[in-house]
Formats: sequence, structure tokens, C-alpha cells
Amino acid sequence: MKSALEVLQNVFGYDAFRGQQAQIIEQVLQGGDALVLMPTGGGKSVCYQIPAILRDGVGIVVSPLIALMKDQVDALLQAGVRAAFLNSSLSPAQARAVESQLLRGDLDLLYVAPERLLMPNFLELLERVPLALFAIDEAHCVSRWGHDFRPEYLQLSILAERFPGVPRIALTATADALTRREMVEQLRLHGAPQFVASFDRPNIRYTVVPKENAKQQFLEFYRANHQGDAGIVYCLSRKKVEDTALWLQKHGVRALPYHAGLDAATRELHQERFLREEGLVMVATIAFGMGIDKPDVRFVAHLDLPKSLEGYYQETGRAGRDGLPANAFMTYGLQDAVMVRRLVEMSEADPQFKRLENVRLEKLIGYCESARCRRQLLLDYFGEKSEPCGNCDVCLEGVQTYDATIPAQKLLSTAVRTGQRFGAGHLIDILLGKATPKVLQQNHQTLSTFGIGTELDQKQWRSLVRQLVGGGYLSTDDEGYGSLRLTPKAAPVLRGQERLELRQDLPRAKPGRKARVAAEAAENPLFAALRALRAELAKEQNVPAYVIFHDSTLHEMAEVKPKNLPSLGRISGVGGRKLERYGEAFLRVIQQHVDAPEQKPIVPKTYLRGDSRDDEDTYELTHSLVLKGYSPAEIAKIRGLKLNTVEHHLAELIARGRLSLEEATRLKPAELEAIRRVWMGLSGEDRSRLKALYEALGERYNYGVIRCVLTAFTAEDEGVGFH
Ligand code: ADP
Ligand code: ZN
Repeated sequence: MKSALEVLQNVFGYDAFRGQQAQIIEQVLQGGDALVLMPTGGGKSVCYQIPAILRDGVGIVVSPLIALMKDQVDALLQAGVRAAFLNSSLSPAQARAVESQLLRGDLDLLYVAPERLLMPNFLELLERVPLALFAIDEAHCVSRWGHDFRPEYLQLSILAERFPGVPRIALTATADALTRREMVEQLRLHGAPQFVASFDRPNIRYTVVPKENAKQQFLEFYRANHQGDAGIVYCLSRKKVEDTALWLQKHGVRALPYHAGLDAATRELHQERFLREEGLVMVATIAFGMGIDKPDVRFVAHLDLPKSLEGYYQETGRAGRDGLPANAFMTYGLQDAVMVRRLVEMSEADPQFKRLENVRLEKLIGYCESARCRRQLLLDYFGEKSEPCGNCDVCLEGVQTYDATIPAQKLLSTAVRTGQRFGAGHLIDILLGKATPKVLQQNHQTLSTFGIGTELDQKQWRSLVRQLVGGGYLSTDDEGYGSLRLTPKAAPVLRGQERLELRQDLPRAKPGRKARVAAEAAENPLFAALRALRAELAKEQNVPAYVIFHDSTLHEMAEVKPKNLPSLGRISGVGGRKLERYGEAFLRVIQQHVDAPEQKPIVPKTYLRGDSRDDEDTYELTHSLVLKGYSPAEIAKIRGLKLNTVEHHLAELIARGRLSLEEATRLKPAELEAIRRVWMGLSGEDRSRLKALYEALGERYNYGVIRCVLTAFTAEDEGVGFH
């Protein structure tokens, strides 16, 4: 029997297992159950796919994400795995066809929606076929407290009862302990080993910037780092989603809206386009994203505060699943701080719940205002200890804090002197000494604090107010007018008993990082050409591009520039089946760029035809194809040239010393020697005539070969050396 590692290498094209994949697979291969907690992009799929391939019978994968099943199955089919799916998107006839595949034993993997799995008929069907395993994907959907709760998931306990001998593996990217307990309970996984991976996503760079004009800030971030990349922009409300998408479109960004208020068809269309087209930006509420397993989402931006740190981590986790650099970008402002504070104050749940809720919200603000490594804070939240990461804004740009005690006192006392009835804008106007109509109307220019705050500018004051609200020194009214009141926490500050050290919001040069993918496409023509070829292949088959090869695989190709199939096969992500199907095409593109490194990006199909190229390139291209073992007829076909033209190329290449006669004709030395003797036997004049040699050899060789032979012999005669 093949080993799991062999399947990983031959089918999926990866060198080695990651993290705990090997142990998990071993456990399931031996017939045991498992609970797998791994962050998004951690590599959960192979944990059940490989055992399903290796064990007898079919692996049944339960997934709530109907929209994504087809892509998953397409990806497996591309890798040569026998897979299918069953859900409501299939016609009855299509569903029957899949069922008979199942009964015939023609499937390694079958993806089913839970409601379909639970249908009595279907369960009976399953009892009639050998089963390799059950994989329960997105297993946190059993949690009644989680936001992804699916009632049908609760009934999955039936699997343990009806199929006691079949291993069950439950997988999720949701980390917390409560959900974990529920999964064990509901899915009857008591005693099953739990594999908990680190939740760190080191390739994601976290950045939080003070909110000024969120849309504009995002646009700058996008233009500086992500032009042409796929990404997700989260907004809080449907309206804001609509506005933002429209605004971005006007500014030349290929953006689409997505929220629960759109009709199902539009939502589906937008999701589909996001998955299939390259470089779309999805502007969405959190209704979008669960299970979006598009590997090349390069950024996730939050223009509004997320609901919780858990939610934030899940949402940002949709970036960079392919392991390449990605950005998590957030704008955070006073209104966000105010809102969270109000939620804390207003919550009327039972005291226990309220306390928990408050702690959660405090942590969220703490994250935004942090002067400590953001990743450390996030991982800490999930119970993981870590060192400063070096890949977040705090680590990279550092944070300066300053003694804000006196400015804070000035602001707090202004609030007190104005009756705690005004919002941040007005208080700051007073401190800056601005005689606005509102100031004059209220006679606030006469206050002792009028104009005493010129040590900070408008932005710095807003940052201070935000941090005072975030830190719970100021609260806002319940009516939502934004008026600021002091909390009991403010008193020691006002009295000078507490020193306040606050974060200095530095003007940021350029948030985030250069996106390697888009930048590289512009700078590296080979990568661009490989991407173009991939797009073409994907379009022909109507599958998302990443189903053919991931960006990371194309990057490696562009870097390593493999010259032949075996070395192409060693690139991560190139499995046996894909090598067979696409190897030649990708090698051609690579070869082309190796031969002509100064070339501009070329769309693959263009250069397959010889006509648009100048002579030098056309010879070189033929040269590279000969070296790869193509016959002249094949080369003619591939390049869309006449056979005769290719034969002339070969002769020319021989004359230039670029090809040996053996390479060009693929004839053995002994045979060539025999031909040579015949040629020597010709009279002087006939030695340069094709036809004479052709006939002297009894018409056994075609003119292409004759031309090569003659070229070589003549050149040799004239003393041109070969190598
Ligand atoms: P998850 O389901 O945990 O979010 P996936 O199973 O989709 O993650 O895997 C994430 C990415 O990592 C995919 O592109 C997958 O092909 C790749 N991957 C998985 N295992 C390996 C491995 N051992 N080596 C290299 N890449 C891997
Ligand atoms: Zn950090």
C-alpha cells in the first residue's frame, strides 16, 4: 500500500507534512477518531483527504458550505482524486448519477450537505457501501452559542450510533474551549485525541490606524500595497457596504458589495466572481466569508470595529491562506470607542454574562490601542504565549507613548465646566481657542480653559479623547448625542493622583507592506506570463485559477525556472496529475523566458505562433523544444508553423553550432556514420544537393533529416567545430 507521504507528494505535490498533519492522518488511517483545531489555512483538508484516499471505501465529508463544494471537488479532480458532491444545487438526475458512482465504489471522497446526509434514504444508501471515514468540516457549527450555528449539525451524533466502526474526524478553525467542549459532546468524540495547532498566522501583518476618513485611508492603503490584488473590506452596516463599494468603484477599484440584504442570486454571483476572477475586492458585512477558502486573498480590511477579537481573528484569517504575505488592516476611531463603551454600559444581561461581555469588549479596545505587539495580544487572547512578532505595525514602527496627564486634565475639566453636555468636537474647539458660532453662542470663549490646549493639534486631541473613552475615563450619553461625561475613574486623574501614559498616534508613512503578488506580477514578467497561462487554462475549464496552481506554486516556478518535467514536479503544489496535464505548457512559458530574459510579459498563446516574433527568438524557441524531446512535427504543431519551417530552423541551429546532429535528428551515431559514408561516396557536386543524398539513401529519410545531415557534414568539412 502507498504511504500517506507518497500520496501527499504524488497527488498533492507537497514535499512534507506540516505541523501535526502526519499524526492526524495516522490516527484516522488506523481507524481512530480525531478532533482537529487548526487555523484557517493550516492545512486541514489533507488530514481527511489522504486517509479517505488510502482507506477502503469512500470518505464522506459533511460541510455546510454548499457554495464551495464544487470548487473543492474541482480541485480534487484536478489532482486526479475521484471526488463528487451532493447538495441542493444538483438536479435529480445529477444527484442520481453521483449516487450510482457511490454504489459502484467509484469515489474516494463525497462532499454532502448535512441536511442531505441526514435524509433516511441517504443514510440507508451509506449502509450499503464501504466507508473510509466521516469528516465533519466546520465542526463548530454544532455550537448553539456560536454565530455559525447549524441546527442539523446537532443531529450528526447519529453517525456515531449508526456507523460505529467508521472513524470520524471533526475539524474547525474556531479555537475557544467552550466550543471545543460542545463539539466533543455533540459529535460524540469523548476520548478522541485532540490536535490543537498554534493559531499564529505569521504571514499576516496586522496594522491598526487611527480613523480619519476610513474610505480614503483604505484607498491609499490599497493603492500603495494591493493594486490588483483580491481582498475583503468589512463594514458594519449594509448601507455602508453599498456606499463604500460604489465609492471604490468610482475610484477605479474593482469592488463588489455583499450583504444579507442583497437577493440570493446577486450574493451568489458576487461570491462566485470573487472566487473565480483575479483581483476583485469584496466589500461586505460579516455575512460574507465563512469558509471562503480562496487561498490568494491578499488583504482583509476593517473599516469599522469588528464585533469581537474572535470575530476579528477569523475574519482576518481569510487573508493569506496560501502562506504568502498578507495584510490585516483596520481603521479605528473615536466613534468605535464610543460605541463599544456604550455597549458595555448598556448590556442588561445577567451579571455573569455582562461581566464576560465587558471583558471581551475591553480586550477589543485594548487591541486597537495597544502599545504592545498586536500578535502577542491576539495569541494571548487564545491562550498562546509568544514573543513580539516583528510583523505588525507596533513591532515594525514602534509606538511612542507620552505623559498625557496634563492634557487629559485640561480636557476633563473642560467637560466638567461645560456641564458634561458636549461632544469631543466642541470640547476640542474650546481647548484650541476656536471662536466657532457654537462656542460664542454658549459663551464658552470666557471659560478658563479656552485656548489653553495648543500643545496638541486637532488630531492629537481626538486621539486623546478616543483613548480616554477607550480606557473608560469618559463615557457617552445613552441618547447618542455624543456628549461626554466623566466616569468615577476620571477623578484621580483630575486630582493629579493618577498619571496617564497614552499612545502617541504617529503620522504613518505607508501602512502595511508591498503586496508581493501584485508587485511581482508587474516586475517579474515570467510570473505574469505564468499567471496568464493559468488564467487561460482555468477559463477553458471554468474553474477558479487557484484550482490549477496556487500563486505560491507559480512563484516557485518563476524563481526556480525548472527546465524539464522532473524538476517541475519537484515544485511544491505540482502533483503527478497536474504535471501530466499542464507540465509542458508551463515549461514552455518558463523556457521562453529563460531564453529571452529581456522580454516583456507575453501572453502565452501569442508566442506559440512563430509569426509575430523576430528570427532570433523563433530559432531559440525551436531550439528549446528540440532539447525537450519534441519531434519536428510536434514542434510545428505546437508553434503553428509549417514542418518545412521547423526543419529549416533545425538546420540553421546546427549551422550555428547550437544543436548537434544527434539532437536534431535523434539518429544514433552509428547510423549517422553510415549516412556519412554514403555522402562521402557522392561526387563533389552532388554532395551539396539534398535530392542526391535523399535518393542515394534509398528515400529512407525525409528531407528534414537530409537537410540537417547535409548542413552538419558541410560545416564539418569547412572546419566548423561542434560541441
Ligand atoms: P484549511 O482547510 O485548514 O483552511 P487547507 O486545507 O485549505 O487549509 O490548506 C491551506 C493551504 O495549504 C492549501 O493551499 C493547501 O493546499 C496547502 N497545504 C496543505 N498541506 C500542505 C503541506 N503539507 N505542504 C504544503 N502546502 C500544504
Ligand atoms: Zn508584533
